[in-house]
Amino acid sequence: MSKLGLGLGLTVYGGAGEIGGNKILLTCGETRLFLDFGVSFSAKRRFFGTFLQPHRYSLVRDYVLTGVLPAIRGIYRRDLLQHAAELDDREPSVDAVVVSHAHLDHCGHVSLIRHDIPILLGEGARTIIAAREMSRNSSSIETSILHTGKSSTRIVKTFKTGDVIRVKEIRLEPIHVDHSVPAAYGVIAETAEGVVAYSGDFRIHGPMRSMTRDFIERCAEKGVDTLIIEGTRLDEYEEHSEDNVREALTGHISTSSGRGVVVLVGLLDFDRLRSLLAACEETGRALVISLRHAFLLKQLAEAGLRIDVPKLEHDRLMVYHERRGSGTFSDSDYRGWLSKFIQQLMDVGAPLVRDEEIARSPEKYVLALSQPEDITELANIKPPAGSRFILSTSEPHNEEQMLEMEKIRNWVDFMGMSFHHVHASGHASGGEIINVIEEINPRKIIPIHTEHPGLFAKLLRERGLDTVVCEPRPGETIKI
Ligand SMILES: [Zn+2]
Repeated sequence: MSKLGLGLGLTVYGGAGEIGGNKILLTCGETRLFLDFGVSFSAKRRFFGTFLQPHRYSLVRDYVLTGVLPAIRGIYRRDLLQHAAELDDREPSVDAVVVSHAHLDHCGHVSLIRHDIPILLGEGARTIIAAREMSRNSSSIETSILHTGKSSTRIVKTFKTGDVIRVKEIRLEPIHVDHSVPAAYGVIAETAEGVVAYSGDFRIHGPMRSMTRDFIERCAEKGVDTLIIEGTRLDEYEEHSEDNVREALTGHISTSSGRGVVVLVGLLDFDRLRSLLAACEETGRALVISLRHAFLLKQLAEAGLRIDVPKLEHDRLMVYHERRGSGTFSDSDYRGWLSKFIQQLMDVGAPLVRDEEIARSPEKYVLALSQPEDITELANIKPPAGSRFILSTSEPHNEEQMLEMEKIRNWVDFMGMSFHHVHASGHASGGEIINVIEEINPRKIIPIHTEHPGLFAKLLRERGLDTVVCEPRPGETIKI
């Protein structure tokens, strides 16, 4: 207990010994704050899957029962607690949830948080989450994270680097970091009891690596006592670089003369889209992106943020006019956001490309798919034998993704295409992570978002550092 007797505590409810699902409760006296409230995919996969979904009426109860969500009173949406009355409370038991970035393993289960608990997140992250939600084919309780519709009472407050937010006894300073999605943040939490920093997810090899440097330097300046740090790639030493990715993509495209190139990219990985666009510029091809990707670019551009994403007006960028409904490009095939968006694109004369055009001249284009289920487009564009398929996302790392990848491989093989993997991770390598700890020099670290928390102590010792490693156990409070 500290000199003021307030007591600073940290409870990791998700992200302990697992990659993602971060749910970290920071308490200081009467102040209670969650750092992220993501979906724990590993916990969820044990009991649920594509055809095995919880019922709406018992969603929170079943998730709490199976350990997907923590049993905490006064944090969940009251309208979802009919079958979990013991978790209901008139007043919220948490003062705020801070979201580090737009990936679902960090923000997904904010969807289940009661609307009177303020959600704090980056301006860009809000735009990205909202655009992703608006452009979904179908929605559910869990995919509606911010509920910013007209009737919503959700309190959402946005921040940017340089802002200071006070949540009762805690002073928060969000600072941008570089990750595979724009608007990712680390957070420094200052209290009368000491300074705690949370890295969120970060890398040091991306185009915006200077942002991660800003976070590290500010942490060092502030004298962080406890650092909650991600260790996704702690056991990997290979240093990735987005520049190498761009070169590899250029190489693949330039040696595919007369043939097609199809690339699968993450929907939110705008740095990859930029690398791909640069590769297309160098090789004289047009980059054809999905309508959903184009919609996200437009929303980001209109939000007037300082985020560097490709502009829809770029002369090498075209939009794939995908078939829907009857498959005849009839107006009635496109509904909701899609119908409005296609009309807007047509009004401004944006270059829309159909499958038949790509089939006729495969050597003119690179088609970027933004989700695995779009693989069936190969049947529409009929790439000539020997065309290339490039997976430009991380490799599958669980059973479900492996099964999905097997289907993608089958499509690629069936079409007579060659398969390639070109990727740089969104996470720092083991050596880089230890460098960050050395530079920030905290008294104690709490490893999170890693399957190798035990490795931290070994690597720090090897470096000659005496940093205390406090391995979190799910739901166990660490006094700091
Ligand atoms: Zn993550």
